[in-house]
Amino acid sequence: MDADLIIIGGGPAGLMAAKTAAEEGLKVIIVDKKKDIPLYTKPCCSMLLLEPNYHDENLKTDNGKITFLKTGFSVDYDGEYVDLLGSMRFSPSLHPFTIKANPYPAAKVIDKETLAKKLFSQIDSAGVDIRPSTQGIIAEEAKDSVSVKVRDKNGEKDLTAKFAFVADGVSSNVVNRMGLNKERKFYAKGLALSFMLEGVNFPYPDAFVAFIGKRFTSAGQFYMVPKKMKKFGKDNKVWELTFGVPTGMDINPKEQLLKFKNEGPVKEWLADAKILEEIGCAMSFYSPIENPANGRIVILGDAASFQEVENQGALMCGYVASKLVKEFLEGKRDSLDEYNEFWKRCFEFNHPGVVEATARTYAIHTFTDEQLDYLFSLEENFTTPGWINHCTCADVIFAAFSKHYEEIKKHDAELAEKIKKYSSIAVDAALNT
Ligand SMILES: Cc1cc2nc3c(=O)[nH]c(=O)nc-3n(C[C@H](O)[C@H](O)[C@H](O)COP(=O)(O)OP(=O)(O)OC[C@H]3O[C@@H](n4cnc5c(N)ncnc54)[C@H](O)[C@@H]3O)c2cc1C
Repeated sequence: MDADLIIIGGGPAGLMAAKTAAEEGLKVIIVDKKKDIPLYTKPCCSMLLLEPNYHDENLKTDNGKITFLKTGFSVDYDGEYVDLLGSMRFSPSLHPFTIKANPYPAAKVIDKETLAKKLFSQIDSAGVDIRPSTQGIIAEEAKDSVSVKVRDKNGEKDLTAKFAFVADGVSSNVVNRMGLNKERKFYAKGLALSFMLEGVNFPYPDAFVAFIGKRFTSAGQFYMVPKKMKKFGKDNKVWELTFGVPTGMDINPKEQLLKFKNEGPVKEWLADAKILEEIGCAMSFYSPIENPANGRIVILGDAASFQEVENQGALMCGYVASKLVKEFLEGKRDSLDEYNEFWKRCFEFNHPGVVEATARTYAIHTFTDEQLDYLFSLEENFTTPGWINHCTCADVIFAAFSKHYEEIKKHDAELAEKIKKYSSIAVDAALNT
């Protein structure tokens, strides 16, 4: 046998799994199609979300560590943080709508590359057999073992191990080849393209910022987040401006980003901004895999998820899966089923109604620019309490609008009905909060 554990994919899930397993004494091989595994090459806002009990976890960040208090582990992190008060959405005429966390901050933006480089150096020191520029093709269970087909510059070969983790991220080709997408509901495909910008003059406190309305783009959405990344020099704050758009639209993402930057409604904020880098990725959204641990193969992180598990969730997946494998090898358990329990408990998209609640976020894009300007200006500096959370933000937004239901109804009965339709919270209840 080539190893105890073979991991396909060296993102946060795969790296954390490799570190945990190797430090527990397992013989680990990790393959990644990238040449330079820890480099930051895919758009990611890199927000560490601090909402209490998010992913059934509470995070602490101090002394050069990110600690996962409930799961019981920590990762070393010596990069910088940018604290965010919450999320801000701007209507076409730039009325802000803020979801603000209490206590501050809602999130800390990390330098993902610094985190990954540290994990990478740790797996290297722990003796993991690291194989860059190597693509994982498929993982198959055999008797008391697994076989993993990989391809590198010398061609294809089969590696064998006691266990395999598939951690090749969103739109996982390995999951697809294993036939696991057949049991999943397909939702959408999309592209994300980001510019790393230096010299942005954002006139509000740091936040995750999104722009809503056709004045910004006829399809898709722009959003941006501030970061401090070592690779751009110390003390150098940058903003990652991302354009996300469903595939199949007749839209060139790069042209859209340039137009937004140079001619869009917030061009004053971006007038001095210099593009340092451009990165992009494709994404497919499926319903989550119900039981990602099956026999001796576990699908980790985004490869099994609906929307992303986020970096913090990916780290949790890697840690938990490797600990369970270690216990299996020690004869303390006879299956990895506990991973499926962890998966269902910690990731909100597995809970009833949450995928639907997340999808309601897109409902906001069905409003006209006039409606958005009207709704966002219902209150001066419209601010409502809440966290940065894909699953709940639509409910938070529509609940905030619903508080003005009677006023909206007088202004535009059809619009009031629309708010009611998209709000999962009864308008009567919202009026009483
Ligand atoms: C636009 C955008 C914004 C985001 N914002 C945030 C945020 O604010 N906060 C947050 O925490 N998360 C955010 N995320 C999500 C976050 O990036 C992911 O949840 C996280 O990276 C998942 O980790 P992973 O290890 O499962 O997969 P990935 O990080 O995708 O890693 C997969 C790895 O597998 C490798 N790979 C792929 N295919 C193969 C193959 N066939 N063989 C070998 N290797 C392969 C890739 O090269 C990569 O290294 C965002 C994502 C996007 C797209």
